Amino acid sequence: MSKIRDEVLAANAAYADDFGDKGDLALPPARGFLVLTCMDARLDPAKYAGLAEGDAHVVRNAGGRATDDAIRSMVISHKLLGTREWFVIHHTDCGMLFFDDTQMGDLLAGSLETAELTAEGFRNVSEPGGSPEGRYVKWHTIPDQARAVIEDVARIRTHPLVNPSIPIYGYVYDVKTGRLNEIEAATEAGRAAG
Ligand SMILES: [Zn+2]
Repeated sequence: MSKIRDEVLAANAAYADDFGDKGDLALPPARGFLVLTCMDARLDPAKYAGLAEGDAHVVRNAGGRATDDAIRSMVISHKLLGTREWFVIHHTDCGMLFFDDTQMGDLLAGSLETAELTAEGFRNVSEPGGSPEGRYVKWHTIPDQARAVIEDVARIRTHPLVNPSIPIYGYVYDVKTGRLNEIEAATEAGRAAG
């Protein structure tokens, strides 16, 4: 078995041994809020936002973008599970800043192996041939960090399935300091109606 798999299962066994009364947690998040954020390994929403099991919904994808699938989760979160405040949290040094759709299409067409990140951006180590399928995908990259937060909040705000009463706050997490910095124009765009 793989070393990582061994480690994960060992960690899980220890966690389950100390599970306490968490089996009694309710399905709806106790503190009634949701965080949409990036999958970046340096971000731990439970730590940077003070969450315990059962507290809040966390929706993650590459970039923390307001994709159709992220919005699907958010609508479920409010409509069925009662969250009433939403945070969109992107971060500094996000990988999504370092490529665009054309480059990703080219990289995948050249090779399916992991690219390397150089000063000039991502680059294939070798090019044995990959697939042109990547040219048909919208990767939701981030040309401008603050603008992406504003656009994501605005997209969620104006979505016909999103309740206008939900305030949506926009932030950028600083990976150098651990601090959440508000994008005021995003929070303004996400203001609740009424
Ligand atoms: Zn990221």
